[in-house]
Amino acid sequence: MEKIRIQDLEPEFKEELAREPGCQHVVRCFSCGVCTAVCPVSALTPDFSPSRILRQIMYGMRTELLTSPALWYCLACARCSFQCPQDVRFLDIIQGLRRLAVQEGLINPELADRCRQGEELLQQLRQRFLARLISRPDAADSLPPLLAEMAQELAAAPQGQHPPKNAGDD
Ligand code: SF4
Ligand code: SF4
Repeated sequence: MEKIRIQDLEPEFKEELAREPGCQHVVRCFSCGVCTAVCPVSALTPDFSPSRILRQIMYGMRTELLTSPALWYCLACARCSFQCPQDVRFLDIIQGLRRLAVQEGLINPELADRCRQGEELLQQLRQRFLARLISRPDAADSLPPLLAEMAQELAAAPQGQHPPKNAGDD
């Protein structure tokens, strides 16, 4: 269980983060856990949990969060943003946290850039996967359950669709 030292907490952190582009809905989170339940990375490792990251934001665990390697595990698939009942837009939140980590010199900007490139590559792979699925719908039958579920969502969504609203809307 994670230990929390009251003197290390920065309760104003959520307001600071809410000023980052796309992060203004962070305070809407009511800890339902849906984002973690649908996250493919959380399904693979207990080290990454969107709802735990949101709890840490609310507690003000600024340094622990901004120095955490888990901040860079997200694959930017946006499932959490699609499924959140409060329109918190966790994908924008994690990008805001990453920006702060880079601004504070807590991560090498080159490494952050490589992560961005990796995400772009994954986006391209997702597009190819979707194109293949549309041309051969029976291919979904051979996928593991979580991938099959994601494939169905991708196939059902209009091409290029992203979370309900774009970062910075309101
Ligand atoms: S799904 Fe939304 S409201 Fe629920 S824990 Fe995640 S961010 Fe918070
Ligand atoms: S965008 Fe990131 S945090 Fe959200 S479901 Fe996808 S991998 Fe998980």
